[in-house]
Amino acid sequence: MAVSSSIVQFNPAASFLTADVTPGKVFTREDLSPAQQMFGRISQDFMRTEVLPHEKEIYAKDFALVRRLLVKAGDLDLLRVDIPEAYDGLGLDKVSSAYVSETLGLCPSFPLGTHTTIGTLPIVYFGTEAQKTRYLPLLASGEKVGAYALTEPGAGSDALNIRTKATLSADGKHYLINGQKMWITNGGFADIFTIFAKIDGEKFTAFIVEREMGVVSGREEPKLGLDGSSTTALILENVKVPVENVLGEIGQGHKVAFNILNLGRLKLGTRNMGSAKQALNGALQYALERQQFGRAIAEFGMIQQKLAQMAVLSYVGDAMVFRCLGDVDAALAAAGHETLTILKTIESFAVECSINKVWTSEALAWVVDEAIQVHGGYGYSKEYPPERAYRDARITRIYEGTNEINRIIIAPRLLKNAAVAQLLIHPSAAAPPVADGLFPAERQILSAAKRLLLLTLAAAKNAYGDKLANEQEVLGHIADIAIETYAIESAVLRTSKLIAARGGVEGATPVDIMHVYFSDAADKVEHSARQVLAALAADAADRAPLQDGIRSIASHETFNTVAGRRRIATAVIKAGHYPY
Ligand SMILES: Cc1cc2nc3c(=O)[nH]c(=O)nc-3n(C[C@H](O)[C@H](O)[C@H](O)COP(=O)(O)OP(=O)(O)OC[C@H]3O[C@@H](n4cnc5c(N)ncnc54)[C@H](O)[C@@H]3O)c2cc1C
Repeated sequence: MAVSSSIVQFNPAASFLTADVTPGKVFTREDLSPAQQMFGRISQDFMRTEVLPHEKEIYAKDFALVRRLLVKAGDLDLLRVDIPEAYDGLGLDKVSSAYVSETLGLCPSFPLGTHTTIGTLPIVYFGTEAQKTRYLPLLASGEKVGAYALTEPGAGSDALNIRTKATLSADGKHYLINGQKMWITNGGFADIFTIFAKIDGEKFTAFIVEREMGVVSGREEPKLGLDGSSTTALILENVKVPVENVLGEIGQGHKVAFNILNLGRLKLGTRNMGSAKQALNGALQYALERQQFGRAIAEFGMIQQKLAQMAVLSYVGDAMVFRCLGDVDAALAAAGHETLTILKTIESFAVECSINKVWTSEALAWVVDEAIQVHGGYGYSKEYPPERAYRDARITRIYEGTNEINRIIIAPRLLKNAAVAQLLIHPSAAAPPVADGLFPAERQILSAAKRLLLLTLAAAKNAYGDKLANEQEVLGHIADIAIETYAIESAVLRTSKLIAARGGVEGATPVDIMHVYFSDAADKVEHSARQVLAALAADAADRAPLQDGIRSIASHETFNTVAGRRRIATAVIKAGHYPY
């Protein structure tokens, strides 16, 4: 399997702010190798031919069937992607793994994503040789199903505050685990759990726990969406876990918990975009068939505007998530095989993972909401697909760290980055140069957005110092500037690369998509920067440069988004599906 790192060069974390990234240096969806595409097709065929025909049984929680389907997925190697070859896996790159995840958007209730990510990766990255040999082949084949149990009734976002306790037995051979977990995906039928508990109520530690050791599942939680997935509490009463099943180091469970969340966020982006494109294609088909006032509703400007914006978000989201995956793969290829180095490398991209998690989950929320609107009253019916897609999408803003938690960590993490700190010595002078190349006007906006991000980071640091964590609203506005900066840069890089490869700029739909997105994003960046400015004290020294920065982004020429979106909608309608 070709590894994406052969295409991209090494772009370190936060390079979207600190470096002049050129199109040749980023991975895009168009760079997927034939082998990666083939694997994606296998996964898509499996979802279409094996999973979707059984939707009814899956939504009725027929977990025996779900288990049989997981074994079939194992037979097709779909559960082996992230597992090293030595343990019956394929050991593929993150691009391949996330590309498989994209197809899971076809049926988000099917537990393949949970099983292969949070259900398997803790053992891949933190397991001892003996633990990997014992458990990974069983997870790779689908014979055993994995789950990850961190959350408790009283500890969700505040995960380090768990109360589940582990006590060493008198003979020193076992830990006895007592407590309760909440909202555990695959909780009703999983066999192998990564469970977090505090040894003696203090040392936060991860354990590999087999169901037979005494795990009892609570009832299936009645939920808003994901009707077919199993979500239960776990009741842990004197669960007897051998000492050999401590996962990672005692007292270092937070490393397992947070690194696995980073990996989850990395892969969630493609899954969100898979669901968004599925909703767009469904809305498009309906709009072409539904007649009102004697014409297909797809001919109306208001409907075209929605279809076009769905395509804009799908294109920009893909640009962001594949760029990030490519950068992580390239960094991993340079890092070597030592587990700690691998984890540190992935952790260094925590900002990008949070950006992608927040952006793609909110883009998906908009797309599924408007897909209902395109369907009118039928969109509100349980007998049409958008209703389920709308409910299923809602969780993506809550799990893998809520979007609030992801937003408040972006600015502090950027401030800790050495290259960013260097630029913050003179943030006004640090406006990155506009590189030669296509789309100079967009590059000016991008440069202005980067400068505003640096200026707001500097202003917040100077104004609030070590109390910055208390200013969550300001952190949220700065996060939004970072998110849009990453989005617009990814859009211009993907488009430049695509146009350079295929030739011709005039009339190209990706160029319209990029213009439309830039126009809206520049307004959002300006708005967020104004909010940071308004929150600063009247005599703050950072006000003047920030005002300058806002003037510079506000001066961008207004693109005709009405005409742009009409052209995008026309192209999508002509293709009959989302074409990129
Ligand atoms: C369907 C589903 C599947 C899940 N699967 C799993 C799983 O497999 N394994 C697992 O361990 N967990 C799982 N979870 C749990 C999920 O990760 C948590 O629900 C999530 O982390 C939020 O925790 P909470 O529900 O306790 O909300 P809380 O932490 O109580 O948050 C409530 C609100 O307060 C906000 N908030 C909290 N703290 C702060 C803060 N410091 N600053 C600003 N705002 C804050 C949150 O953003 C949120 O808006 C699942 C949940 C659901 C619903």
